[in-house]
Amino acid sequence: MRFNPVVSVVYALSAATFLASCGQIRSKSKDNESSAEPFASNVETKSETSKAEEVKAAASSEKAAEILTPKANQTDAAKAVVGDVTLKKSAIMGRTFLYGFDLQYSAVGDVSFSLLDQSQALGHIPVSFRIVGRRLQLLADNTRKFESVVNHPETLVNEYEIIAESDDELTITMSKPGMLLHKTFNGSDAAAPASSWLRSIEIVDGGRYLLQESALMNAKGEVQTFLESLMPRDALVPADYKPMEANRDTNDLATRYMLLDSEKVFVQRTTTNGVPVREETSFASRFNLTSETSTIDWYVTANAPDELMGELKSGVVGWNRYFKPQLGRDVMRFMGRLPAGVKLGDPRYNIINFDSVAEAGAAYESQASDPLTGIQSHSIVYMPYAWYNIAAKLSTARENPSVRSEESRATQKTLDASGLFGKDHRVLSCVRYAEEALEAMTPGEAVDDFGRRIFISTLFHEVGHALGLGHNFKGSLAYDGAAPVSFPQNATTYSVMDYNYYQHETDLVPVIGEAGGPVLEYDRQIISQLYNNGNDVAASDLVVPACNDADADSKDGGVDPNCIRYDAEKNPVVGLEHAWGRLANETGAMGIETKTLTERVNGQRERLLALLNDEGKTPDAASATALVTKFNAGLKQLVAYYITSGAQSVRTNLNLNAVALRAWRVEQDQLSGAITEADRRARYLTVLKNALSLKALPEAPQKSIEDLSTLVQAIVLQNDRFGSQDDRQTLADKLKSSILAAAKSSTDASLAKLRTTLADKLGFDKDLSFASGVVEGRTVESQAVGLLTQLVVQDLTAESLGAAASSPARAGAAKALATYKDLGDDYAAEIAAVKAQLNVISKAARDQGKQDVRDHIRALLETLH
Ligand SMILES: [Zn+2]
Repeated sequence: MRFNPVVSVVYALSAATFLASCGQIRSKSKDNESSAEPFASNVETKSETSKAEEVKAAASSEKAAEILTPKANQTDAAKAVVGDVTLKKSAIMGRTFLYGFDLQYSAVGDVSFSLLDQSQALGHIPVSFRIVGRRLQLLADNTRKFESVVNHPETLVNEYEIIAESDDELTITMSKPGMLLHKTFNGSDAAAPASSWLRSIEIVDGGRYLLQESALMNAKGEVQTFLESLMPRDALVPADYKPMEANRDTNDLATRYMLLDSEKVFVQRTTTNGVPVREETSFASRFNLTSETSTIDWYVTANAPDELMGELKSGVVGWNRYFKPQLGRDVMRFMGRLPAGVKLGDPRYNIINFDSVAEAGAAYESQASDPLTGIQSHSIVYMPYAWYNIAAKLSTARENPSVRSEESRATQKTLDASGLFGKDHRVLSCVRYAEEALEAMTPGEAVDDFGRRIFISTLFHEVGHALGLGHNFKGSLAYDGAAPVSFPQNATTYSVMDYNYYQHETDLVPVIGEAGGPVLEYDRQIISQLYNNGNDVAASDLVVPACNDADADSKDGGVDPNCIRYDAEKNPVVGLEHAWGRLANETGAMGIETKTLTERVNGQRERLLALLNDEGKTPDAASATALVTKFNAGLKQLVAYYITSGAQSVRTNLNLNAVALRAWRVEQDQLSGAITEADRRARYLTVLKNALSLKALPEAPQKSIEDLSTLVQAIVLQNDRFGSQDDRQTLADKLKSSILAAAKSSTDASLAKLRTTLADKLGFDKDLSFASGVVEGRTVESQAVGLLTQLVVQDLTAESLGAAASSPARAGAAKALATYKDLGDDYAAEIAAVKAQLNVISKAARDQGKQDVRDHIRALLETLH
């Protein structure tokens, strides 16, 4: 037998010694030290057979084997141990513990998107010990999940052989992972793991925490590693703690502020005829600041580079702009790199798991709390380098980003937290995709600074979740896009917990590494509610509009057209008009982008012409051609950015605001801005019709591009360094037409994308009618049918399919149009007319031998039948 070097033998360290170095909030309070009696005193572990060979043998592909190579900061996944642990009987029997587990790392997930499942806190559940013969059982108390006071069967979490017993102590052998790990994490339908083992056993904090690292391997040889923890519940939850309910029925604060809750639980408030009434509720997740010196400390995994420490620090301590004025001290502390030996998932540590993946990815946060009080032990934030890198490197790859469809985002695995951890337990309250930041970046932007800024604002947002803040998608209603940004009069948002436009968050922390920055009203108030009893919210303070994910997704009684992710401006339809204006108008950009497309093209023109006139830079025809080719690539990006690819493009704005066409559930007086529902809908439809009717760029940007191409032509013709007169004429014409062709191809592709996106929004939805009033609803409906009719035949002639990119738009429109057949005869005439028109084009195509056109039309007709 040999001792595993990683697992230290911890003999009841003096509590004071350990706590002083721990730096977690509970540990700060001297009053709290004695409240949790230690229960474990000795661990002795031995290595079992190494799983390395077994793992490699089972790996079905080279990729799996490659993934199994340990990452930085990752304990060797393939190591197997068993351990003997001595427990104090008086400290374990009849006492409630919290069992929890965290996913550390895994080879499972979406490899292509660099989103392997990792670093997720899955929560705590109440458990207790029971001795059954020579076995010690750890049993989950499920009472909170059931309304019944008698029917709540307990679940076996783990079972240990008792190898020695005295009057005071039990010694057990720990040899296997908890029984709930696999099904909780992989779902109840997942095949049983091919193998599972323990990787380490450790007693920490003077015997108050028992930590075991475990591993599961599936049939493909993919490994998931976990940290399981056990602590006395009284180590986290003081007896006199007053929880805050995150339930709109019982707590008005939960309507005004979007609180993150732990899980739905049943609690007893009253009795009727002596029978307990157990009602379902949930509690706000938050840290418990136990004393007037308590802090919330954060660490980053050891692999984080020095170069990003300032950004990491600002994302954490930035929240002190609220704590300091309210509590008189800095509560948030960034402690730098995680001390050696501390494991990811240790419930005493809040950890930013920095991942070096550079290609793409998402950031997210997860947290573990006591389900009956919401008191949080710890939070883990997953923060990939991609957030910096996306701007610094991928900005050049805009033309071909691996953007996932909305659909695949929705099906992104958010963990089937079935079983004991509760279906409603949202493990990941937030997943922010790095590519959305890319969409916010104007082509040509200064990438390094932008990368650093979005890294900070993303971390700031995720740390907000850790503090108990849910999303507030009405934060963006703060901003009047027709006026200049100023704090606090015309702040771009009320909250970092909205999905704000990234360019709006670049000033969140003016000096990287420091905490200062704009005070956002909603965030100020909610921090006070969660951490200072609301003492800093006066009765006269603004009631900031607020809504969360459930509100944004709800169709119940209609939609809330102001509760939109990624929108901007106090009246979103005005924001949409601003987006249209930035595309179509020559000058006068309003809203988020500071320039119109025409102004951006003109800006590029000055640069291009200067270079073309510079004999040193463009000495000959080849260099001039290279210059214009490069310019054309940028021009394409710019056109696409304003029409379709930018986060504030016309397409994105139309897409986001399409809900406004549907029946609204909000009362008129709850809406910001003095625009009625009918007016707002009409204004939306105006922009929609304009956009769907576009066949080319609007006049202003088109003219700007044509002028530019003419100037290029003239410069080439005038300069004999570009060759003979004939050569110059040829080159000038070629360059001119290449500029016009670049603009046209990008416009065609962008408009096709726009039509495809919007066709999908115009279908008949039996669960969500158009508009609220019957008459108005029918009016909008017939307009939608008219637009779809137009889209089905748009650019479709016998001679040609039109731009190849437009086929999906027609197919999508036909699909949406077909949904109106559910209405019986109401739109039968319109649909019949489209079919007749398609048949005419098809016949003409037959006469001309255009089989591809006929095939395409046949598919459209099949959709409409
Ligand atoms: Zn979020």
